[in-house]
Amino acid sequence: MEIETAAIYIGQEPEPNTGAVIPPIYSTSTFSQIEPGVTNGYDYTRSGNPNFSNLEKTLSAIEEAEYATVFGSGMAAITAILSSLKHGDLILAEENIYGCTYRILDRVFNKFGLSVEYLDFSNSDNFHFITEKSPALVWIESPTNPLLKIIDIEAVSRIVQKTGSTLVVDNTFASAYLQKPIKLGACISVSSTTKYINGHSDSLGGVVITDQEDWHEKMIFAQKAVGLNPSPFDTWLISRGVKTLPVRMEQHCKNAQRFANFLESLSVVKTVRYPFLKSHVQYELAKRQMTGGSGIVTVTFDFSLEQTKKLISGLKYFTLAESLGGIESLVCHPASMTHASIPQQEREYVGISDGLVRFSVGIENCDDLIDDFNNALTGI
Ligand SMILES: *Cc1c(COP(=O)(O)O)cnc(C)c1O
Repeated sequence: MEIETAAIYIGQEPEPNTGAVIPPIYSTSTFSQIEPGVTNGYDYTRSGNPNFSNLEKTLSAIEEAEYATVFGSGMAAITAILSSLKHGDLILAEENIYGCTYRILDRVFNKFGLSVEYLDFSNSDNFHFITEKSPALVWIESPTNPLLKIIDIEAVSRIVQKTGSTLVVDNTFASAYLQKPIKLGACISVSSTTKYINGHSDSLGGVVITDQEDWHEKMIFAQKAVGLNPSPFDTWLISRGVKTLPVRMEQHCKNAQRFANFLESLSVVKTVRYPFLKSHVQYELAKRQMTGGSGIVTVTFDFSLEQTKKLISGLKYFTLAESLGGIESLVCHPASMTHASIPQQEREYVGISDGLVRFSVGIENCDDLIDDFNNALTGI
C-alpha cells in the first residue's frame, strides 16, 4: 500500500459496533474488566487507549516500520527515549539539535548522570568519534533546526551499527512523507507530531518509531511509568491531520522551493538555506536522502537586528510564532525565540546569528506569500 492510501486507511477502520466511519474519541480514563485482570485490551488510559493504538498503526505504516508509540508531545517522546538510559551513559549528539532537546539534556538529564558531547555530524571527519567514544546513543536530526544542515543518515547508521550503539534520528522537519530514517538504517525515528504530521497547529504530540522489539517495549513502559501519554482527543486530531500529510507536504515543498528561489534573488539577503536549493552545500545528499525539500526556509538578512525585527513584524500572512509545519505560514526569529534557551556564545558558534530568520512556508498560494513579503520589505 502506498503512503497516500496508508495515511487514510491504516488505523482508521470504521468502529465495529456502530459502523461509524470515523473512529470515535475514547474519552475515558479507565476500562471495565471482564474479570479481575482480564481486559478487552485496555485497562487505564495512561497505558493505552484505542485512539493511541489507531494513531500508532497509521504512523508505523507510513514510516514503513514495525512499531510506533505515541506521546503527549515531541518532548515527551524524547523524554521517553532518554529515560531508558542509565547513570553514566554517554550521548553523542549533533551540535545543531533542537533547542529544547539541548535544554533537557543539559538541565534535566545531566543531573541524573547522563553526559552529552556534541559533534558536527555533517562532517564525516568526525565519524571516528562514534567508534572511539562508544556512546549509548547517537542523536542526530536531519534537516536540522534552524540551519537545515543535512546529515547522511545511512553513513552514520552504518558506523553506529558496528559499535553496537543506538542511532536516534529526529525526523520532525522532513516527516515520514519525505524521509524514512528506519529504512536508512536508524534504530529509532522520533518526531514531534505537533508539526507536519498533524499539520494544523491545533494539538501537541510525539511519536517514537522503531523496528526493534526491545525498544518498543521500553517505549510502552515509559509511556505508562513516566506518565508521558497523550490525550485521546489530541491523538484523534492527529489521526485526522495525518490523512492529508502527502498532499500537504507536496504543496509545502512546492511553495518553499519557490519562496527560497525568490529570496535568493534579493539583494538584501546574505544567504538562503533550503535543502533543495542548488546552492545548499549538501544539495546532492538532500536529493538522495529526501524526496522533497520540506517547507522550512532559513534566511540571513543583510539587516541590523532592528531592521530584521521590523521586517518580520510587518508580514501579514507569516504569523510571528514559534512552531512550524502547519498549513499556515509562520515566521520565527530563532535567536530570541526557539533558541533563546541556548547561551549566546554557543548559539553563535553553531551559526544562529541575530539576522537569522526561519520561515515555515504554508500551503497558501505562493503569489500571496511573495506579495506579503514584498510589502513588508518596502517598509524597511
Ligand atoms: C517541535 C520539535 C520538537 C519538540 O516537539 P513538541 O511537540 O513541541 O514537544 C522536537 N524536535 C524538533 C526538531 C522539533 O521541531
